[in-house]
Amino acid sequence: MLVSELQPGEVFQYFNIISSVPRGSGNTARIARYCMEFAEEQGLEAIKDEYNNVVIYAPATAGYEDREPVILQGHLDMVCEKEPGLVLDMEHEAITVRTDGKKVWAKGTTLGGDDGIAVAYILALLASDDIPHPPIEAVFTSDEETGMFGARGLDFSKLNSRRLINIDSEEEGFICVSCAGGVRACCRIPFEQQKPSPTEYCAYEVSVCGLQGGHSGMEIDKNRENAFLVLGSLLTDIEKKSSLCLADISGGGKDNVIPKSASAVFCVPKDEANIAEQEFDRYKRLICDELSIVEPGLTIKLEKTTLPEAVMDRIGSRRVIYVLSHIPNGVERMNTEVAGLVQCSLNLGIVNVHADHVTFRTLIRSNTTDGKEILLDKVRDFIEFAGGDVVTESDYPAWEYRRNSALRELMIDEFEKQYGRKPEVTAIHAGLECGIFAGKVPDMDMVSIGPDMTGVHTPEEMLDVASVGRTWEYIKGVLSRM
Ligand SMILES: [Zn+2]
Repeated sequence: MLVSELQPGEVFQYFNIISSVPRGSGNTARIARYCMEFAEEQGLEAIKDEYNNVVIYAPATAGYEDREPVILQGHLDMVCEKEPGLVLDMEHEAITVRTDGKKVWAKGTTLGGDDGIAVAYILALLASDDIPHPPIEAVFTSDEETGMFGARGLDFSKLNSRRLINIDSEEEGFICVSCAGGVRACCRIPFEQQKPSPTEYCAYEVSVCGLQGGHSGMEIDKNRENAFLVLGSLLTDIEKKSSLCLADISGGGKDNVIPKSASAVFCVPKDEANIAEQEFDRYKRLICDELSIVEPGLTIKLEKTTLPEAVMDRIGSRRVIYVLSHIPNGVERMNTEVAGLVQCSLNLGIVNVHADHVTFRTLIRSNTTDGKEILLDKVRDFIEFAGGDVVTESDYPAWEYRRNSALRELMIDEFEKQYGRKPEVTAIHAGLECGIFAGKVPDMDMVSIGPDMTGVHTPEEMLDVASVGRTWEYIKGVLSRM
């Protein structure tokens, strides 16, 4: 069976066409051009900007001329992943789309159902002449997958709508109404370098590994341990009983990933080596017992190592260890309006030792703007108290939950009408393009929906055909009532 023969035919016909256009992030000029040509063929006004964002304007159908306009939005780019050994230049060559009538996938590669299905729905709508709708501003953004660069660059003065349906969610029956904003706090603790004498000092490497890790937004509420903080509490304990000087810390590596492993090199005076080893053994047992249920794979080791050429002075070492074990981390607060949603959290993901300072990079996430600011203040106060300073990077806004949302009510009502059950109203503790839009147009009323997809961003990506059909009926039903 061919993808172009699937129902709804008008949607899969466009899905099939755009699947033939290579469109990995950073390679969106061709798909943007295709959308512009489509608009021209349909006689619709359209604009393309320097980011390869495309906006197509469609007038209301008969009887809907006095309605408020609506933005329908999806992203043009896709993640290009393939199975090892597959010979395909995804920059220039088309993927091979397959179906068994129930699912759609690509042979050995990502499918780009994320977010090609949104583009297909919207093009099918714009091409139709029998689907009633208000004025539509179709917004196709570029390079969502690598940092939402299209959405960040989009000129909202070219848009009139104050309601937006984002079609980039991956589970039918879920209406997403909020996403997290974030800011990276780069914390710096200074120290002075010292040279340890080989006759007086011996060195150790302490390592923590085998933790579960996970995504710092979606999995921050699973009580997983952060390897840096476990390392910090071990060092704190050893430092209480010995004149420990730190030389190095490594581990982690990405600020949006909970670190699974971390290690540190330190030295102690030779006559304190025994007590340091005994204290390590005692505290290791304590931690392993305490965490045995939540982190069954945890391994902690202490090994003798060669004496480093330079170490941090005692005061610097104590400050660094203090920050490592006590920096605010994990879930800070849960949301009280959306069940199970984390409201604010932090993740210490990267630690780097430089010649005269250590940097700790923590990613603060919050589904409210105020929560992010409060948490950043807390980190800043903590670091300054420990003798350091903080600079911030890549601040992006939250899409806050709205107590009153006419669009959400309509989406819920139409869902109940079509499905005979209530949808799940959800929020995610990670970023979506809606966050960028909320930052630019604070009064924009938004929802995010989409049909069932699995294995997104991997060659196992699959799109559910029946779910695409039901979601198509749902979108049409909503538009007819707008
Ligand atoms: Zn997406």
